Amino acid sequence: MSDSKLVYTPLDDIEKIYNELKTTFASGKSKPIRYRRYQLLQLAYMLKDNTKLFEDALAADLGRPELEARMLDIDPSLGEIKSTLSSFEKWTKQEKAPFSINFTAMRPVIRKEPKGVVLIISPFNYPLFLTLPLMASAIAAGNAVVLKPAENTPATSALLASLAEKYLDTSLIRVINGGVDETTKLLEYTWGHILYTGGGRVGKIIAVAGAKTLSPVSLELGGKSPVFIDPKCDLKMTAKRLLWGKLANAGQTCVAPDYIIVPQDFQDKLVKALQDECEEFYPNKASAPGQMSRLVSTPAFTRINNLIKNTKGTIVFGGDTDEATKYIGPTIVKDVMPGDCLMSEEIFGPVLPIMPVSSIEEGLAYVNAHDHPLSVYAFSQDSAFKAKIFDNTQSGSAMANETIIHPAAYGLPFGGIGPSGSGYHSGKYGFDMFTHLRSSMDSPGWLDMLLSFRYPPYTPAKLKAM
Ligand code: NAD
Repeated sequence: MSDSKLVYTPLDDIEKIYNELKTTFASGKSKPIRYRRYQLLQLAYMLKDNTKLFEDALAADLGRPELEARMLDIDPSLGEIKSTLSSFEKWTKQEKAPFSINFTAMRPVIRKEPKGVVLIISPFNYPLFLTLPLMASAIAAGNAVVLKPAENTPATSALLASLAEKYLDTSLIRVINGGVDETTKLLEYTWGHILYTGGGRVGKIIAVAGAKTLSPVSLELGGKSPVFIDPKCDLKMTAKRLLWGKLANAGQTCVAPDYIIVPQDFQDKLVKALQDECEEFYPNKASAPGQMSRLVSTPAFTRINNLIKNTKGTIVFGGDTDEATKYIGPTIVKDVMPGDCLMSEEIFGPVLPIMPVSSIEEGLAYVNAHDHPLSVYAFSQDSAFKAKIFDNTQSGSAMANETIIHPAAYGLPFGGIGPSGSGYHSGKYGFDMFTHLRSSMDSPGWLDMLLSFRYPPYTPAKLKAM
């Protein structure tokens, strides 16, 4: 979307940066609580002082309406950094092991230690929320951090790099910009942890690279998150929340409702409600300035446009596109069949396919025959229906009567399962991801009065005494 040109970090500089960070980490500089707190505060100020610049960058990269920039990226990022700031000291405290007659005298404790120099590789769709809170978790845990933001949001990634140099300690925290070559170079090194967020195809490359250097890897991936609709739902609310979750950021959300499963005889009622809500959302046109985000790139636009052109379903709403501005209008497609192109890949655009089924069991069987998604959604006023969906599916998260806001929910871990990812972040879970639980003991000499039988020579008398 953006015309900005992103200056990539020279490939030859990457090794130097890595070594500098390793050396500074080894000096212990990142460990004091005071140091971590200062860097976290700086991270918060970096965002707060420059809100307008970030809004402009998000508008340039993704055509983000100001309200979406604030609501989906800036405010939740600031909220998470602040909550990490207020809680992290408590998280760093070492924990005593539970009482045990055999071991308590050896003073067993779990020390919360940083993993080292960690690497965060982020996607384009939430250029702040998928970078800054993750950096906050890594800093709070006492690590040195390299962030590799997405190359296809050049304005935001360039801003992140220049502000990070101004606000943060570059001897321990660096933003490296680049594409495949730079990321491939980064992956040659051993990292304390690699956190990758993005698509599964690249996720596999990251996992293999991590295996080669024995760097632990967490993968935050995507997938097709289904929505189960019960005729006993609050139809207006359902339509509103579904559409919002699908259309925010033009559908480029990892937990966006990807497709709908609805009983055949309820499909038209749902379609009508969705159409009504769409008209209420956009009384003028969705393409009017400041109303809807745009697709991130021409290839992304072309991919979604082709899905719309090739579907065998019936387009009941939308289908309007404009390549020059990478605009795809809200599009609702009904009577979509399992083999349809809209069901073949994660849509990641503002297109909502509706797949009618003859029974809820048919819908469950379909979902369970495919990759575990990042989220499963159920819209119903009936507890038994919601329980049936939650209890009979597997997914990163399960939400009833709500869409897409759970990654920002305080206290909930965020992560996928199987093909939608492994590992959790958000708040304490992010801190834990970047923390090594180091078992330690400090055993007193007097214990040998009780434990000397362990030393050779092994004798029948010692055996008998056990
Ligand atoms: P992507 O995989 O194309 O890119 C993500 C990152 O990987 C970028 O920084 C990019 O530079 C890097 N990369 C790309 N190709 C690479 C290669 N060959 N080797 C090494 N690195 C490479 O992902 P995307 O298109 O930016 O993001 C969309 C996907 O991300 C969707 O599937 C979405 O569901 C998923 N996603 C998941 C989450 C989550 O938290 N689970 C959040 C947002 C997006």
